[in-house]
Formats: sequence, C-alpha cells, structure tokens
Amino acid sequence: DNEANIMSGAMQLTNKYVKDVMTKIADVFKLGINRTLNYETMTEIMKHGYTRVPVFDSENNITYLLNTKDLALIDPDDCIPLSTVCKFYDHRPLYVDHDCKLDTILQEFLKGDSHMAVVQKLHNNGNHDPYFETLGIVTLEDVLEEILQREIIDE
Ligand code: ADP
Repeated sequence: DNEANIMSGAMQLTNKYVKDVMTKIADVFKLGINRTLNYETMTEIMKHGYTRVPVFDSENNITYLLNTKDLALIDPDDCIPLSTVCKFYDHRPLYVDHDCKLDTILQEFLKGDSHMAVVQKLHNNGNHDPYFETLGIVTLEDVLEEILQREIIDE
C-alpha cells in the first residue's frame, strides 16, 4: 500500500545516487550569461515555465541560477543583460558529485539555501589538470519522487 511504498522509498535514499534521478544536462533549459533579457529571451523563459534556469558562463560552467520570479519587474524593452540580473540577485547553485547519495543531497536541500543542485563528475586521470564535467541538475522534487515512488504532476 501507499504507506509501505513511502517507507521503502525513504529507505532507498541511502542506496540511490544523484545520477539515478537527475535531469541530464542535454534536457536542461539553460541560458548563456551573455544573453540579453529582450522580448525573445523572456518569451523563451516563460514558455519553458521552470522556476529556476541555470546560467552558464563562457567555459560552460553553471555559475548562477536565475529565479524566474526575479524577472517580474523587468521590462523587455530595456534589454537588460542577463548578467546584470544574475549579479544583482546572486543565486549561486549548490554543486554535488554524481555519486552523492540521495539522503545526503536531501539534507543539503533541507538547509534551505537552494532546492536545485548542479551534478558534477570529477575527471582526474593524471594526463591533464583535474576538471569537473557537468552531468545534469537535481532538485528537491526529484528526491521527493523517489520517496513517494511516483511522479509528481506539475500544476
Ligand atoms: P519547477 O518548479 O520548475 O517545476 P522542480 O524543482 O519542481 O521545477 O522540478 C521538476 C522537474 O523538472 C525535475 O525533474 C527537475 O529536475 C526538472 N527541472 C527543473 N528545472 C529545470 C530546467 N531549467 N530545465 C530542465 N528541467 C528542469
């Protein structure tokens, strides 16, 4: 039954990993930091309908999260650079290793700084400088779906 499902879902958190529940980077709606908040960009953001949009820099690193509610007072005719808004609100993402267990990331989310984390993999094979590859994003909702063992239908 439902309660038993939730119990087993909660217990699964210690043997499931972020990489099992993340949204892959190719499927993430994200924006380059050099974009302008003109009519075209604002329409694109609204059409996707996400609460948070990762913003990547010239080296493809996700350095900010744009909260779409922060756009409420922005006039597309002003053509404000996305970078200006990002720096003003300064929402920095959490970063998490792809091998992080779900109970650990849940604790991070419950601290309340951010409900989205950028999933990374460290490449350190000695041939070149160590670097992080961005594999995807994970949100509190992805973890809750594992506990409830069902999809959460968006409003
Ligand atoms: P929202 O509040 O925007 O609906 P949630 O945090 O509730 O986002 O997550 C719902 C699902 O959408 C999760 O699977 C999450 O990984 C995914 N998701 C969240 N933001 C984005 C985004 N910008 N691009 C692609 N997928 C996203």
